[in-house]
Amino acid sequence: MFQEMRRNKQQLSKEECMDILREGTSGVLSLAGDEEYPYGVPLSYVADGDKLYFHCAKSGHKLDAIRSNPKASFCVIAQDHIVPEEYTSYFRSVIIFGTIRILEEEKEKRTAIEKLAVKYAPKDTKENRENFIRMEWEPLCMLEMSMDHVSGKEAIELVRARKES
Ligand SMILES: Cc1cc2nc3c(=O)[nH]c(=O)nc-3n(C[C@H](O)[C@H](O)[C@H](O)COP(=O)(O)OP(=O)(O)OC[C@H]3O[C@@H](n4cnc5c(N)ncnc54)[C@H](O)[C@@H]3O)c2cc1C
Repeated sequence: MFQEMRRNKQQLSKEECMDILREGTSGVLSLAGDEEYPYGVPLSYVADGDKLYFHCAKSGHKLDAIRSNPKASFCVIAQDHIVPEEYTSYFRSVIIFGTIRILEEEKEKRTAIEKLAVKYAPKDTKENRENFIRMEWEPLCMLEMSMDHVSGKEAIELVRARKES
């Protein structure tokens, strides 16, 4: 059902995709928006196993879209190195297709926000992290996205450079 990459020499391995997801700090979540306009919204995230987690407010365009259609894709750009003399970008990126679930249970919501907090403030103390989570808890909504299909691609020039090294 998911499309194969046409230029498959440029395809990244699953491990490389996971490394990009681990190291990335934001991506664009694409949803079926209003009146058939796709809605691409930038978000922070954390990857854990075969899931992605996001935090957001309890209302808004994004949540409306998820409630009416939980199928989504998420794109993370790891590198966009412009090479003007070649009129190109030495890029690396990952795209995930999956389904989003709004976390309703307190325990799973808590586990997810902790993962996100540790990713973005790894040096913070447990106490301070817990304080922040407590302060933000009421308006907080947590989302879990399954990774039904993951692909990564890099510029052909990066493939060639790898072969030469
Ligand atoms: C790098 C980055 C990381 C972010 N991380 C998070 C995060 O982890 N959690 C989070 O909740 N939000 C994050 N944001 C903000 C996020 O992009 C949205 O603005 C926010 O989530 C509200 O989305 P919504 O659909 O509920 O907004 P709504 O206010 O309901 O959206 C209504 C309309 O406002 C416009 N709009 C909304 N957001 C944006 C935007 N970012 N840029 C331009 N127009 C916009 C769109 O036209 C949209 O249809 C991040 C933004 C950036 C750039």
